[in-house]
Amino acid sequence: MQCYSLHIGGDACEPHGGTWFETQNPFTGESWAQIPRGDAQDVDRAVRAAHQALTSGPWSELTATQRGALMRRLGDLIARDAARLAATEVRDNGKLLAEMRGQLDYLPQWFYYYGGLADKVQGSTLPLDKKGYFAFTRHEPVGVVAAITPWNSPLLLLAWKLAPALAAGCTVVAKPSEFTSASTLEFAQLFEEAGFPPGVFNVVTGFGAEVGTPLVEHPLVAKISFTGSDSTGRLINERAGRLLKHTAMELGGKSPNVVFEDADLEQAAFGAISGIFAATGQTCIAGSRLLVQASIHDAFVERLLAVARTARMGDPMSADTQVGPITTPPQYRKVLEYIDIARAEGATAVLGGAKGTGPECGTGWFVQPTIFTGVRNGMRIAQEEVFGPVLSVIRFEDEADALRIANDVRFGLAAAVWTQDIGRAMRMSEKLQAGTVWINTYRAVSFMAPFGGYKDSGLGRENGIDAVREYLQTKSVWINAGAATGNPFVMR
Ligand code: NAD
Repeated sequence: MQCYSLHIGGDACEPHGGTWFETQNPFTGESWAQIPRGDAQDVDRAVRAAHQALTSGPWSELTATQRGALMRRLGDLIARDAARLAATEVRDNGKLLAEMRGQLDYLPQWFYYYGGLADKVQGSTLPLDKKGYFAFTRHEPVGVVAAITPWNSPLLLLAWKLAPALAAGCTVVAKPSEFTSASTLEFAQLFEEAGFPPGVFNVVTGFGAEVGTPLVEHPLVAKISFTGSDSTGRLINERAGRLLKHTAMELGGKSPNVVFEDADLEQAAFGAISGIFAATGQTCIAGSRLLVQASIHDAFVERLLAVARTARMGDPMSADTQVGPITTPPQYRKVLEYIDIARAEGATAVLGGAKGTGPECGTGWFVQPTIFTGVRNGMRIAQEEVFGPVLSVIRFEDEADALRIANDVRFGLAAAVWTQDIGRAMRMSEKLQAGTVWINTYRAVSFMAPFGGYKDSGLGRENGIDAVREYLQTKSVWINAGAATGNPFVMR
């Protein structure tokens, strides 16, 4: 079995406690690698290495242009190793090789884009209301960043934090999910090869209470950038609030995918399928609430079933598999529990609604692609994040009704509208309470487009030019250029 090391201060090292835990392949249920079980002492070592790299030594002395060049080199190395890193992610999280390979092939773009941005972060000269002074602003790195990530897209979601943080000049300690740590540990090895000084990027693997908590509470960590569930996000934000640390929170979703009667229904059906069955529904932007106009409801559900029935479960490594296993045993149990809850609430499973047990499912943790009709928006299945291949179909009458239902949920990560009416598309995009609104498409993301949540889906934004500001703090510098020294007891 493969045995991994922590990555601290540029070195591959053993965990302080000398213990490892096993990580499983969701398709076989079998352990395939040993992951170091880090603890508070490992966290301390990693944060100190990151702090030293931030405050003294070569990284702190590089120009922003030189930082950008290192980032572009890292992007090239990711491109070179994309196939290997993608295969590691599939072994660990069970998502389709096509999906993870697509993510890894795309990943270098984050390092090229933010590498290019590094030396375009500029302050301003201030038009002061006081004579005899010259003042300007500097944007400086916020400090050591703790990057805490979930299991569904380990390296992509790490890159959304890491690339802007490095562009800003920060150093980083990453804590990947205990279910999918291997790819982050392999990725860390590319840093020194790219020429980054030791300590700029560190990885401590392990469990939330043993690694996550000491990382959040470490006095030398200035910012916590977290992606994960809203319950963990709240906990971290409370702790960070007490310690006055900066935070960015990318949390869960319960996104409405709204189909109007005037939509291109074939495209809308593909959009609905991609919204919930791609990635086996294990994505924060899953379109798990499908709102369908009453006039086309029955015909559209039929159309949806015709496509969804053909979805092939199987080995995520295989090119013709469309729905892979659920990544973790607790998540598998949770998804099945929500199926029971939906039935108990009175919803009807018109597709699936059970474990996947056929020979194509191997010994993995499979749930059949499941569609519930007769869902009312007040039901738990319509309000709570399932994070699995379970779709709730909800009927609406008109535009006002669609908006009311779409926004009647505590989350606000994403939403989509399917219509051929540009006026309606514009009205809906303005009124939907979500950080991303797609018109006639679903699941499109880019390093160029800001991403983040309204309401309980999070705080702050990733991607796009402004994301670099999340990792900067602004300093105003005042220079006396001839102002008279006045009364020292009065503010200037
Ligand atoms: P999770 O909240 O259970 O874990 C996320 C990370 O936090 C893991 O690394 C975990 O070990 C760590 N953690 C747990 N307890 C901690 C603590 N007390 N202190 C510090 N760290 C701690 O989430 P998950 O189950 O891994 O991921 C699924 C969730 O992530 C879903 O809710 C999903 O919507 C969300 N998600 C959001 C986005 C987004 O961009 N908004 C993207 C992907 C996933």
